[in-house]
Amino acid sequence: MEDFFATNNQQQIINRIFSLNLGLLCILDIDGWFKKVNISWKKTFGYTAEELSETNIVDYAHPDDRDATAFVFSELLHTSHRLTFSNRFRSKDGSYRYIDWEFNRHDNYAYVAGTDITHTKLSSAGLKEVRKHLDTNQFHSDLEHLCPTRQKILVVDDSPLNTKIMETALIEDYEVVISHNGIEALAICNSNDPPDLILLDIIMPEIDGYEICRRLNRGAKTKDIPVIFLTSLTETTDIEFGLMLGAIDYITKPFSIPIIKAKIKNHLALKYYQDTLKINTDVDQLTQIANRRHFDETMIREVKKAKRSGTILSILMIDIDHFKFYNDTYGHLEGDSCLKKVATALSNNLKRPQDLTARWGGEEFACLLPNTNTKGAQNVAEALREAIQNLSIPHESSPVSDVVTVSIGVVSSNPMDENSFDNLLKCADEALYQAKKTGRNRIATWHEDTEALEPFIKANRS
Ligand code: GH3
Ligand code: MG
Ligand code: MG
Repeated sequence: MEDFFATNNQQQIINRIFSLNLGLLCILDIDGWFKKVNISWKKTFGYTAEELSETNIVDYAHPDDRDATAFVFSELLHTSHRLTFSNRFRSKDGSYRYIDWEFNRHDNYAYVAGTDITHTKLSSAGLKEVRKHLDTNQFHSDLEHLCPTRQKILVVDDSPLNTKIMETALIEDYEVVISHNGIEALAICNSNDPPDLILLDIIMPEIDGYEICRRLNRGAKTKDIPVIFLTSLTETTDIEFGLMLGAIDYITKPFSIPIIKAKIKNHLALKYYQDTLKINTDVDQLTQIANRRHFDETMIREVKKAKRSGTILSILMIDIDHFKFYNDTYGHLEGDSCLKKVATALSNNLKRPQDLTARWGGEEFACLLPNTNTKGAQNVAEALREAIQNLSIPHESSPVSDVVTVSIGVVSSNPMDENSFDNLLKCADEALYQAKKTGRNRIATWHEDTEALEPFIKANRS
């Protein structure tokens, strides 16, 4: 191959490095033409340096990986200096090997190292026959204008090239999150900021796409995230199997960017529509915080979680003091406006993301505080009580204060006693009653070891 280095000295250094048995090394020009290869190419693929000389790396890519490989040279290498990806490279005998490539571009050349990962790839792949070709891209609706916010797409593929292609194609319109392994992807989906849609490779080491899809479908939090499988014909894809597992669609490799974009747009529009419907069933219309239905649903989940992990779950029951008088004095509209202010203040004063405030009904609110003990819950309750008082909403007919105030009942579960979860709401309500009875504008805590008739003497303000 030609010597294209400026000095003899540089040439010698490169020659020395290239004579080491370091795995696949080569220098390509920016368009993918081989300029120099080391001896590993002969060992791995059977080609001599002369045979590879002035041929193009794209021509050796498996037909399914060809577009993607070409994309590296037509687009990606022009915008990034470092790049890793994998593809299948044709040997002299016609067979293909999976290679992980690392590209380092400098000026008009790419300095490339390759690692043969055929063994790991094949041992993790259960190759099957393709049975059917379904095209479920039947949504031709024009819903995308509905989506005002940037939706989030998680791309899960062990091939960095594939994820790079997706990222490049989607980044303009969506927030794109990349993961190269299934466990991490599941963690992202279960986080407090889950994606709106997942593009999921099927064949991956450790856990495959089918298994990820199955686990997502089992999780209460993740079951509604739409999954689109990324499949390739040789990888097989029993598409029907994937769809039965709950995937909503599939995209075949090599990727056609316009089709991917169209499919994603349709699915995300539907997702947005569903989310909006869901929000309407979860949110209280007057105050725009969670409603009781949503509180109940979350509470069931949190009780299960607390039992499983042996953590303490606390609940606050909050009721506006003498609100009937407020309505009588200022009118119902002012009453509504007061409820909105109180709701906003309550939800703004909860600090942890897993805490939830909901409108329980009328002028009552409830807070769910996972992983919070009695002391912590009392602190939160006191902070909320103060926050409402500090709103300084005039309440001239209130016998307890000249501004709007609340009373709060506090209860914490005893994780040693499973039954203690069953009566949490009732206990919170009883504690609230006690706070009312002992003077209002205060908090009271339910204690299970105190006498049933007077369990709540702990009103802590006078
Ligand atoms: P207490 O301190 O014992 O809680 O006295 P209270 O007057 O707040 O309690 P009560 O349960 O007797 O009255 C609650 C009042 O809240 C009665 C009702 O008119 C008012 N209320 C309930 N829901 C709404 C609402 O959506 N809007 C308005 N403006 N008022 C409401
Ligand atoms: Mg009430
Ligand atoms: Mg009240």
